[in-house]
Amino acid sequence: MREYLKFYIDGQWVDPVEFKTVETINPATEQVSGKIALGSTADVDKAVKAARKAFATWSRTTREQRLEVMQRILVQYQARSAEIAEAITEEMGAPASLAGSFHIGLGLGHLNTAMEVLKNFQFEEQRGATRIVKEPIGVCGMIAPWNWPINQITVKVFPALAAGCTMVLKPSQESHFSAQIFAEVMDAAQVPAGVFNMIQGKGSVVGAAMSRHPDIDMISFTGSNPAGVEISKDAAATVKRVCLELGGKSANIVLDDAAFAENVRKGVTGMMVNSGQTCSATSRMLVPKARMSEAIAAAREAAAAVTVGDPKGNVAMGPVVSKAQFNSIQEYIHKGVDEGATLVAGGVGRPEGLSKGFFVKPTVFANVSNSMVIAREEIFGPVLVIIGYGNVDEAVQIANDSEFGLAGNVAGADLDKARAVARQIRAGWISINDGFDFHAAFGGYKKSGNGREWGEFGFHEYLEVKSLLGYVPG
Ligand code: NAP
Ligand code: MG
Repeated sequence: MREYLKFYIDGQWVDPVEFKTVETINPATEQVSGKIALGSTADVDKAVKAARKAFATWSRTTREQRLEVMQRILVQYQARSAEIAEAITEEMGAPASLAGSFHIGLGLGHLNTAMEVLKNFQFEEQRGATRIVKEPIGVCGMIAPWNWPINQITVKVFPALAAGCTMVLKPSQESHFSAQIFAEVMDAAQVPAGVFNMIQGKGSVVGAAMSRHPDIDMISFTGSNPAGVEISKDAAATVKRVCLELGGKSANIVLDDAAFAENVRKGVTGMMVNSGQTCSATSRMLVPKARMSEAIAAAREAAAAVTVGDPKGNVAMGPVVSKAQFNSIQEYIHKGVDEGATLVAGGVGRPEGLSKGFFVKPTVFANVSNSMVIAREEIFGPVLVIIGYGNVDEAVQIANDSEFGLAGNVAGADLDKARAVARQIRAGWISINDGFDFHAAFGGYKKSGNGREWGEFGFHEYLEVKSLLGYVPG
């Protein structure tokens, strides 16, 4: 049992203004795993005040001073990595192997990348007689989801820190354990008081108070569309910048070539990583209609190989995060069957041999039409839909026929052809044969959001642009 009943404000662990708590549930056992405090508007006010005070000095630090602090964070993050990974497994059910590698690695990657970018970032440039100066935007409010908890925190905190901003973080209630250890890392690294603050609590209370706060200059939000819309409305009256990273229903276009079966298998295995709870997951696989039966055979084989069970053990997939998420995914699987899609693997109910825990069967539907609900809505679970296309133009049209535009993948041996297809997808993050890069810009078109995180692009979210005209006398 973990008890995290204090907030991190102004470099101190402090009691909440009002004492309210909530129990947390371990999704693998359905047992109570801990207790956390829930914040109020008054806690947000305290944290914002501390961040505002710290901004006066942190915003004026040099590149070298910020790098020194980030170097200290790196040491502490590495020292606590195993504990953070354990916390992630316990709070949201990621298998130990995944938590210890990818989850931890993403945080480390964002830290190293932010340091690398900061070393050479151009905060000033000359345009004719004008000096363009990029200044930290101010006090940032960060609202994060639970699905890749440390990734979502670090992808915001490190560029903001590097840009000279101060911040108040509200992690998800579903993933507070890892957030707590992250705040301990920041404390141990002696990040100056007030630069980083963390309050735990409900989105509708703490999150909303942040969005509305007159002294928060920008909100960086990652999460669902409905919450993103609420936050935008709440933020409108104070005209603050709102950067949104929302959901997706991304396409993986598998081209008709020699590596076809292998690419289908890879697409299935990839979909099941993190129990399918990845905003950029390619949850729609597009295959040539003529090869649908071949795709079905390959997908069935790949889904059968995905082991599900106790995330502390050696499994490919743990549970999904919560009962609500489990129920919602079950409804979608029912829906797919009702809509007449071919169930290739998985289906409703828990995997065989598991009688408790929020475990879902790795599920694949084929012969899916892009108009079906299971092809249109983000399921956010281990459910893949396979859709047939006539030719490549139709594949692109299907990929783009979505209200989302977050990510995508093009799988094929002919690189020129894959590149040409990738260029036509209306989304922000398109991999060619599963390409991955911390320096790429992550973010969505359409209802997938309006921000760009990762690498150098992530810095711009936290910077204002000032023009000093007549800087060079004419
Ligand atoms: P969520 O329900 O939208 O919650 C995300 C965060 O927002 C949580 O901290 C939540 O607080 C808070 N929140 C909820 N309503 C709010 C409001 N009205 N005002 C302020 N804050 C509010 O999403 P989730 O279930 O945690 O995460 C899953 C979703 O995130 C999926 O749709 C997924 O696609 C998306 N996602 C997108 C990206 C991306 O980069 N594009 C990455 C990961 C996930 P609570 O603690 O109360 O829940
Ligand atoms: Mg939980």
